[in-house]
Amino acid sequence: MNQRVHLTGLDHSELVSFVEQLGLPAYRGRQIFAALQNRRLRNFDNMTDLPKELRARLTQVASASTLTVESRYVSEDGTRRYLMRTHDNLPVETVFIPEERRDTICFSSQSGCPLQCTFCLTAQLGLLRSLTAGEIVEQIIVALNDAYGIGVKPPRGTNLVGMGAGEPFLNFDSLLKALRIMASLEGLHIVPNRVTVSTAGVVPRILDLANVPDRPHLAISLAAPTDELRNELMPINKKWPLEVLLSACKEFEKTLRPGERFTFEYVMLRDVNDSEEQARQLANLLNRYGLQAKVNLIPHNPADPLPYQPSSEEKVVLFRSILEAKGIHTFVRRPRGRDIFAACGQLAAKQGATNQVIGSLPAGTSLSA
Ligand code: SAH
Repeated sequence: MNQRVHLTGLDHSELVSFVEQLGLPAYRGRQIFAALQNRRLRNFDNMTDLPKELRARLTQVASASTLTVESRYVSEDGTRRYLMRTHDNLPVETVFIPEERRDTICFSSQSGCPLQCTFCLTAQLGLLRSLTAGEIVEQIIVALNDAYGIGVKPPRGTNLVGMGAGEPFLNFDSLLKALRIMASLEGLHIVPNRVTVSTAGVVPRILDLANVPDRPHLAISLAAPTDELRNELMPINKKWPLEVLLSACKEFEKTLRPGERFTFEYVMLRDVNDSEEQARQLANLLNRYGLQAKVNLIPHNPADPLPYQPSSEEKVVLFRSILEAKGIHTFVRRPRGRDIFAACGQLAAKQGATNQVIGSLPAGTSLSA
């Protein structure tokens, strides 16, 4: 067990209080915050601007990092998946997705997931536990250090998506705290406007998020245009059915910033939810609520033992054109990292696949700093 305080999960003022409790001046707190969050050091020994005795003392009472990278998988398309372990040996997965304009990091909010979506591999793990704010922040630090080098500023900034394992809105407080820490100008400086959080539809938290002053963007996983089918694919729908969910979206819409839209994600399962009739039902449903939303169609990422296949490309194109004809902006999400089990719905602590594990990191990068 790790009873030491995990400093990566403290915000700036908490870190200052922490050092003051140790009888140290406030500037040490600021120094440590910058070392962790700006220089992205994961070990007190590397904080050579701190006196040696202080480093030794910190090592006794606190930890700078708690996640251990177990494996790292690199896809043909450049996507990287990190399989990490918490101090209590639970899996945590993070995905780095290189993109033309700006790279994206997809983080997990829980180890496993309690929701039982039938098309998602993470569901098979069940909920192991929710992650702490520090464990969420650390995922981003590990991915950034690996991609660019320790402490090297991302050349084009970073987008974050809370679309990894788990349901972020069942870990709301830690999620918001992590986002607040990461927004800090003295730290990672990833502002909420660069972050999108996806929920399966935990309605009370959608309403709560609407009232958060500096909030991230919202995405909602729909997967079906009717309650009947959604109950089957996403059992959470029995608790918060479509009407309740879309009414909450309507409330949330009032807080959208100029030009901002939220996203509905729709995983496309062959012969299950991809018919022309279902496209019309979906368009009519969204139009009935007059939502300023866009739809992201996600071709299903198949994985054993999930009982689904992706929709054919023609079906996806047709589905999209029906939505567009009814005035709904629709995009098709290109699958990334399927070959290494890094794509949407494939995170289940899988080992193996075509991989490149630690040990063959590019020169100049290290996962353990
Ligand atoms: N629990 C949250 C966060 C996970 S996001 C949520 O449900 O929104 C993961 C996204 O991937 C969701 O939009 C989900 O619908 C989608 N997804 C899950 N399994 C998938 C699969 N096998 N193929 C493609 N997309 C999938």
